Amino acid sequence: MTRVYLSLGSNAGDRLGVLRSAVQRLHGLPAVRFLDASRLYDAEPWESEPGQTAGEQPWYLNCVVAIETSLAPRALLAELQTIETSLGRTRPQGTPEAQRFAARTLDIDILFYGDEVLSAGDDLQVPHLLLAERGFVLRPLADLAPELEHPALYRSVRELLDELVDEHDVRAGDYPTRWFED
Ligand code: AMP
Repeated sequence: MTRVYLSLGSNAGDRLGVLRSAVQRLHGLPAVRFLDASRLYDAEPWESEPGQTAGEQPWYLNCVVAIETSLAPRALLAELQTIETSLGRTRPQGTPEAQRFAARTLDIDILFYGDEVLSAGDDLQVPHLLLAERGFVLRPLADLAPELEHPALYRSVRELLDELVDEHDVRAGDYPTRWFED
């Protein structure tokens, strides 16, 4: 079994309900053991400039989840993409720009897969390429694993957060700490 950290985000519809459903789906996956989840954070969308509230994009609700799995990285990604699709994420037709600006019912990224470093093409890059640049990833990750060391940057999550330069607003929301439990 390999310890894996996932980033979950939603900025459309019933965001908390979607994240709760995603956790239920993770519980239901064979070869996956759910371990824990971070607090929830309201995060300004990266699609707009920091502080630009006039943007059309609603804010995200973000968290990080820890699991253990015996699935290989690509098999895990396929399961996560099935969850994304089944919880209503639609990828709009059109230009990459149009896709980038579309609201996302659910986005799931693999942040860390054990201490593996994988970069075979664009379809799976682990650790996630942008994790060290994103407050909405590092803040919840630091709830769960502040001492975890990035296997390519040789920095702990806490150090990455201390060094972070990200002007996008990330707020610990007024949600139950154990929001993922019944
Ligand atoms: P997005 O949904 O915009 O986050 O991008 C999803 C795409 O990124 C998918 O086509 C994945 O194959 C690719 N991808 C690359 N690395 C990762 C990763 N670590 N976790 C999830 N998706 C990834």
